[in-house]
Amino acid sequence: MSLIVQKFGGSSVANTERIFNVASIITDTFKAGNDVVVVLSAQGDTTDEMIEKAAEINPNPSKREMDMLLANGEQMSIALMAMAIEKLGYPVISLCGWQVGMHTDSNYGNAKIEKITPTRVETELARKKIVLVAGFQGINKYDDVTTLGRGGSDTTAVALAVALKADLCQIYTDVDGVYTADPRFVKDARKLEEITYDEMLELASLGANVLHNRSVEMAKRYNVDLEVISSFTKQPGTKIKEAPNMEKMNVSGVAKDKNIARISLVNLADVPGIAFKIFSVLAAKKINVDIILQSIGRAGTKDISFTVSADNVQATLDILNDNKDKIGFENILVNEKVCKVSIVGAGMVNNPGVAATMFEALADANINIQMISTSELKVSVLIDEEDADKALSAIHEKFFN
Ligand code: ASP
Ligand code: MG
Repeated sequence: MSLIVQKFGGSSVANTERIFNVASIITDTFKAGNDVVVVLSAQGDTTDEMIEKAAEINPNPSKREMDMLLANGEQMSIALMAMAIEKLGYPVISLCGWQVGMHTDSNYGNAKIEKITPTRVETELARKKIVLVAGFQGINKYDDVTTLGRGGSDTTAVALAVALKADLCQIYTDVDGVYTADPRFVKDARKLEEITYDEMLELASLGANVLHNRSVEMAKRYNVDLEVISSFTKQPGTKIKEAPNMEKMNVSGVAKDKNIARISLVNLADVPGIAFKIFSVLAAKKINVDIILQSIGRAGTKDISFTVSADNVQATLDILNDNKDKIGFENILVNEKVCKVSIVGAGMVNNPGVAATMFEALADANINIQMISTSELKVSVLIDEEDADKALSAIHEKFFN
């Protein structure tokens, strides 16, 4: 007998038919003799709809009240799923974040899990119940409801798997695994049987859109066996673990991230300490900077460009303008019509030809590269947003066909 944590995303529980489909996956797992803990997301577009509704009422609501609102989506899912499983005749109970001891900090809207005291879950498992847990939500030291950030139910699932010492954590979604590229944009994308945590982390942060980044970080830290699998096809999914047996490929995937903007500071003094000033004022305000490019100094001046996520553009501009005298730039240029395209692969370090192959694919497709960054695990380029899909296909074709 194993303890299995299963998580089902919003599209997997979007309507009554799908709820019963998922209920049968859950009860099959239970019938096979396993202890089953299930984490659910809000149905379909429920969370987005609640965000819109809030905006109609108050465009600038407090984060506390936003969490109070958004946590409802998951609560609705677990109650409905419990009713479906009751109807199928199995013992089941649904529990909210606070009931499973999901303690978080007080960073409303993006709370971090501090500890989990899943006594109630253990009690219900001992009573031979299927336990359904509301994803995405927790409780802080003031007994207020918090949420873990968009897509946070994956993190709920992995955290519970850690706390309960589960044997396996299955993330059911509407894709049947992790692909060499997003199959919605690249038609020849292939499913990977296995992938390492590090590769998955890069792919998630690059916008591969399969798993919440924090869930993969946590799975890596605590060595949780993860599986991404489709609730629709019932085919084997992709396993995410430390040392995959797969034959080492150089590149495991290609991803794009359009949620990014390029900011350039023009005519900075070409003297020591400038980059330090820029990036320390940004770091002090918790702005994450990604690719950085500094031009060669000419006539005593230089330019520095970097990328930030699209939601941080305004904050970045405000901080830079507030520190204009201290940093000493002439002006700021912003380009939000950019996209980062990256190749990821654990086997890349030892293979100098990989970056060149990627650049060749872009050259053949006549796509101009604005910025480049490389690490042991990935090569990223910043390009015009318009070229994103073309770039993705061209690079994928080069590496995988
Ligand atoms: N319902 C939340 C969201 O849409 C959390 C989740 O789906 O994981 O972001
Ligand atoms: Mg999700």
